[in-house]
Amino acid sequence: MHPKWLLGKSFRENCKFVRNAQWWPAERVREYQLNELRKILMLAYERTEFYRRMFDSVGFRPGDMKALDDMNQLPTIDKQVVIDNLSDMCTKSVDDRDVDFGSTGGTSGTPLHFYINTNRSSVEYAYLTMSWERAGYKLGMPMAVLRGRIVNPDRNGFRHEYDPILRLHYYSSFHMSDENMKRYLKHIATIGPCFLHVYPSNIAALARFILRNGTHAPKNIRGIIAESEIVYPKQRQMVEEVFGCRFFSCYGQSEKLVLAAGCEKSDDYHVWSTYGYFELLDDNGNPVTTPGQRGEIVGTGFINTVMPFIRYRTGDWATYVGERCEACGREHTVIRDIRGHRTQEVLIAADGSEISWTALNMHDDTFIHVRQFQFLQETPGQAVLRIVPVDGFGEDDADRIHRNLGRKLDCRLTFTIELTEAIPLSPRGKAIYVDQRIQQEKRVPSDSADTI
Ligand SMILES: [Zn+2]
Repeated sequence: MHPKWLLGKSFRENCKFVRNAQWWPAERVREYQLNELRKILMLAYERTEFYRRMFDSVGFRPGDMKALDDMNQLPTIDKQVVIDNLSDMCTKSVDDRDVDFGSTGGTSGTPLHFYINTNRSSVEYAYLTMSWERAGYKLGMPMAVLRGRIVNPDRNGFRHEYDPILRLHYYSSFHMSDENMKRYLKHIATIGPCFLHVYPSNIAALARFILRNGTHAPKNIRGIIAESEIVYPKQRQMVEEVFGCRFFSCYGQSEKLVLAAGCEKSDDYHVWSTYGYFELLDDNGNPVTTPGQRGEIVGTGFINTVMPFIRYRTGDWATYVGERCEACGREHTVIRDIRGHRTQEVLIAADGSEISWTALNMHDDTFIHVRQFQFLQETPGQAVLRIVPVDGFGEDDADRIHRNLGRKLDCRLTFTIELTEAIPLSPRGKAIYVDQRIQQEKRVPSDSADTI
């Protein structure tokens, strides 16, 4: 059966809507956004203490909302605000069956916890599928996935799992030794015309392996879809040359506020206008409207009605391009050079291969009693996990962290936990998750990043 039927009616309806809506003229988009914003602001005002207090403090009534610009009357919020007000931001009981708990690494190594609708996946997957179609992907095509899934070895030690419904081939991103990469590539060559779905750091490791060994990439790969980390322009170019196909990237967040993707002809990011309300704000909080100027990505999500995020500062920055893509004609806000906290940080396994932080990132309750954390590594195969605990942190938490991270690390790297009162910025200044002290060849070009 074709995957579109197996994914369900709501997925099919979402796809139909998204496929259509991407071509709406700007005026229709504005009308739609205004309507969605009114709904989410009303819900937030009526059902949450936090937003009622906030709206009242600036004399804002959701019913008075007449134009998109009226959003400027509201203050922006950031991660710290969410951490401090989590229990006052939910519109319903978090014990309800249609509510999920979510978590993400967030900026500066501080975990962010939140609640979100269980049905978000079918909406999100429709937007992603419609984005990938622009790169030539068709639902039902085989996809080789290297995105941090725990993949157990078969009896020959080969780390591969197959999902026949979505035709997804999973390989382990935690075991990127030369031997394993060779097996992955050999296997990918047998799955027919396919796409790769990857973290940028993983595909770069594969490309470097191919270059190092003077071999060739499988010829059946039609395109590469990269998400969740910054992409460096030189790295994009290197991967496209090695694989001989397009490196297509999307930008989004676990909190589901803003989603953006390239188009058929351009690598610039087209912001999906029906997914959330996007703003780009300068240091003073003013909208960036001049092409070439940079601003922070601020989002108001339409999908999460359990815990609305209204004017949330993502900590990611981008360059403003315009309100229309000249290459494809879509009347979407276009941005480029996205940079933020999702850098390509890696730990080094005992055999010298890399384990990307993005793959290790936990999206569950692993770090529930942790204010901040960071790995410190001085020796391959070993690390210290420095943790700033919050009240309630105990033996159970340490055990859970060892167990959950240990499942992914699979003895390739062992770590001890060290509790500390503060984690200073590393000498490199940029390290967020991994203070990497092992000297090694420069893995990532240090020029500007252009995507996540
Ligand atoms: Zn375009």
